[in-house]
Amino acid sequence: MRVDISALLKVNGRSMDIEIDGNPEMFDKVSSDIQKFNKLHLKGVLVNSAGILSFKGNLSFSYNTGCGRCLSEVEQDYTFDVEDVFCSEASLKEEDDYFYTGKELDFSKFILDNIALAIPLKHLCSEHCKGICPECGKDLNKEECSCKDEYIDPRLSKLKDLLK
Ligand SMILES: [Zn+2]
Ligand SMILES: [Zn+2]
Repeated sequence: MRVDISALLKVNGRSMDIEIDGNPEMFDKVSSDIQKFNKLHLKGVLVNSAGILSFKGNLSFSYNTGCGRCLSEVEQDYTFDVEDVFCSEASLKEEDDYFYTGKELDFSKFILDNIALAIPLKHLCSEHCKGICPECGKDLNKEECSCKDEYIDPRLSKLKDLLK
């Protein structure tokens, strides 16, 4: 995810188009939930303002993972605007600021941070996913099971006796 910025740094006010395709291995660092990576694309413009490079663009990525309730495959697709500034390593003030080294800017950390912010803690195939029955293991989205019917809340069993 490295870009040669030597030409950009030479002229104050110059801008540079950025277009990068990411590699799948980057996802391993973000979440163990992500099994399969489909795409990762960063596009935007980098502008040199007296050695401080500001980036504005958008990030899109998608991946496959399993639903947290029923384990079925879920595809997640994201596209959103991103922007930040990169200063030279020598003028770095805060440790977590983004920076470039020499004539190279590595977008990896910037991309990983933005991905980490965007992905949910838990993935669901649908808000209404019924999950898997803990008793019989059936996928309750596909079929009904009778486990629930047989289970009677002890607080209600007395009531049921009364109704006999
Ligand atoms: Zn589900
Ligand atoms: Zn069941």
